[in-house]
Amino acid sequence: MNIGIAGCAGRMGRMLAATVLETPGARLAGGSERPDHEAVGADLGQLAGAAATGARIDGDPARMFAAADVVIDFTTPELILSHVGLALDHGTALVVGTTGLKPEHEAALGRAAAKVAVVQAANMSVGVNLLLGLARQVSAILDDGFDIEIVEMHHRHKVDAPSGTALALGKAAAEGRGVALDDVAVRARDGIVGPRPKGQIGFATLRGGDVVGEHTVIFAGEGERIELTHKASSRAIFARGAVRAALWTERRAPGRYSMRDVLGLTG
Ligand code: NAD
Repeated sequence: MNIGIAGCAGRMGRMLAATVLETPGARLAGGSERPDHEAVGADLGQLAGAAATGARIDGDPARMFAAADVVIDFTTPELILSHVGLALDHGTALVVGTTGLKPEHEAALGRAAAKVAVVQAANMSVGVNLLLGLARQVSAILDDGFDIEIVEMHHRHKVDAPSGTALALGKAAAEGRGVALDDVAVRARDGIVGPRPKGQIGFATLRGGDVVGEHTVIFAGEGERIELTHKASSRAIFARGAVRAALWTERRAPGRYSMRDVLGLTG
């Protein structure tokens, strides 16, 4: 599989390129970066700390899409529309890890999925995808006498809040209860907010240092509390999951898929 890396000089991009290089069956097709980025024109293998591969870093993503069977996108939401256009032009599958997507970006991914395989997950680690399943399961068992709160912490550079993973955990917990997250979510509290109404799903966001990513789903009842926690200590877990997803798209029918599909956790 020829794999392109969008935003290849970013924190995740470099890790993804290194992971592709060490994964059997995966080959670097090329990378894209901001046109004014100093890495443009460099060799992608060397950027990832390995030997030169001949795969280059372009300021224009078109060549990467033409050369790749699948493009892994860990960039910013504003790039989704143009990447979807290129994926449709070239029949390139997409693996999207970028978070903070708005409804128009989700709709664009839906358009792409009519023609190519699109795997999207706010968190590509195996452990977090297990946590999603557990959050859904526990909230289906407990009634709304248990208050659900989701706490997350990330490094100081993260720009969106709550994290995409925290929102996905909230969605999973809401699904377990048979409600829509948008109807029950409280994404921040400040001032005299009054007692907590039943059925809310609350979020709390912490930012600081170099924390890769920590998420806890709390089910707080009368006299007891259940906490489900995942702590990421290396970004490699996201890169390994994304490259696994990229390989999984080979000969896959067009459609929208999640990491649950990739990991066989559905059903
Ligand atoms: P980053 O800022 O280090 O990397 C983003 C890269 O995109 C940068 O190198 C930037 O120069 C590049 N970029 C910006 N404009 C571009 C353009 N026009 N063309 C090509 N490249 C461009 O950020 P990061 O920490 O690597 O995270 C990137 C995204 O991935 C964020 O949304 C983050 O939340 C998400 N993320 C998802 C997961 C997951 O498992 N799904 C895990 C970690 C991070």
